[in-house]
Amino acid sequence: SLSEKLNAAFKKLRGKGRLHEADVKEAMREVRLALLEADVSYKVVKDFINTISARAVGADVLESLSPAQMVIKIVNEELVRLMGSTNAKLQISSKPPTVVMLVGLQGAGKTTNGAKLAALMRKTQGKRPLLVACDIYRPAAIKQLETVGAQLDIPVFQMGTANPVDIAKAAIAHANKHGNDMVFLDTAGRLHIDEALMEELKNIKAAVDPAEILLVVDAMTGQDAVNAATAFNDALGIDGIMLTKLDGDARGGAALSVRAITGKPVKFAGTGEKLDQIEVFHPDRMASRILGMGDVLTLIEKAEQNFDEKKAREMAEKLSKNRFTLTDYYEQLTQLKSMGSLSDIAGMLPGVDAKALAGASVDEKAIGKTEAIILSMTRQERENPTVLNSSRKKRIAAGSGTQVVDINRLLKQFETMQALTKQMSKGKMPAMLGGGKM
Ligand code: GDP
Ligand code: MG
Repeated sequence: SLSEKLNAAFKKLRGKGRLHEADVKEAMREVRLALLEADVSYKVVKDFINTISARAVGADVLESLSPAQMVIKIVNEELVRLMGSTNAKLQISSKPPTVVMLVGLQGAGKTTNGAKLAALMRKTQGKRPLLVACDIYRPAAIKQLETVGAQLDIPVFQMGTANPVDIAKAAIAHANKHGNDMVFLDTAGRLHIDEALMEELKNIKAAVDPAEILLVVDAMTGQDAVNAATAFNDALGIDGIMLTKLDGDARGGAALSVRAITGKPVKFAGTGEKLDQIEVFHPDRMASRILGMGDVLTLIEKAEQNFDEKKAREMAEKLSKNRFTLTDYYEQLTQLKSMGSLSDIAGMLPGVDAKALAGASVDEKAIGKTEAIILSMTRQERENPTVLNSSRKKRIAAGSGTQVVDINRLLKQFETMQALTKQMSKGKMPAMLGGGKM
């Protein structure tokens, strides 16, 4: 499987002190093969490997992680990003009913997963769904929808073999009348994409203006799934994707490529034939499933936390000894996102009112400005800002694209913080550092 192959690639990195280019290259060759074998599209694999190699070579290995784990960390992060980082939600209309149009090739799982999704929305969001039989070409299709509807106790609207556009319109009128705030249109599929099908789907779309066109794709079909997704997206403009049959021995390729190729997010996953086997799609969970390394990922998370804690402790120590310089301030700013604000760190120190530092926590734009200013200083200026006379300030302002007032403001903020450090009692520090908790 993909997980096994990736694991084998990472094992080769074991026990080597730092990430060297040759090692990374060797591992990436195998990761690349594993992804291609899992039917991930060639271009996606190429970009993916380039990104990972660039990040991995020369990367500082986190203390307590092996080089292999460090590469796994990077691969995991990039897998998550490839799949869209966070879960994308279904579009909901401001004016009910929300119309969800399920489209996809025959056998992809529209009928069953449309019903599953309707039940999920009822369960998690209290919606009152209506299922609509717009697949008029196979007599069994209407019957199938009625069967799953009955199993889930969800009403089904059908008009036999009437025109699907008319059925969709009548269904919305029906929903309005009966208080159904979500309408799921189960449309027809074909074994292959053809013009007639696309025409019909476009006509339905034009007639009912769905909030969400959800493309249902069979994850087992790998590259074909991605091709189908591209075709449907080009013709209809889809809003999201439901990947089905992820329970089977899906090679994982579709999950990895489909978002990158179409630019549309995977929102749900079908994970079995039973009608409750549907999941909200989370890129991070999918990535760890693909890597098949839950334990390692937990370990990495811990190492990252320890790393942050250690940094915070070092910073707190510097503050207490009044050795906190603009260089530290800069480092602190660049880490703000991952470790919380200065006031959090100050909060670790006894006798410091974290709120007093509120003024020192800056918004993103201000951080950028501050970074630019500090970077334009010489090392001496950063370590000892008292040397900053007006000609130096002018030089720094010019170098950082800011004004002298910005520099003065930064220095004032910095002084406030230094003043606070003086108030701290050194005596209490060791106890705090020993037993301190973030
Ligand atoms: P449609 O032609 O697109 O409407 O596809 P169906 O909803 O009729 O599903 C086709 C077949 O795939 C049925 O036998 C389903 O039970 C099966 N199926 C759908 N989703 C899943 C899934 O997530 N896992 C598994 N194992 N089977 C599924
Ligand atoms: Mg169907």
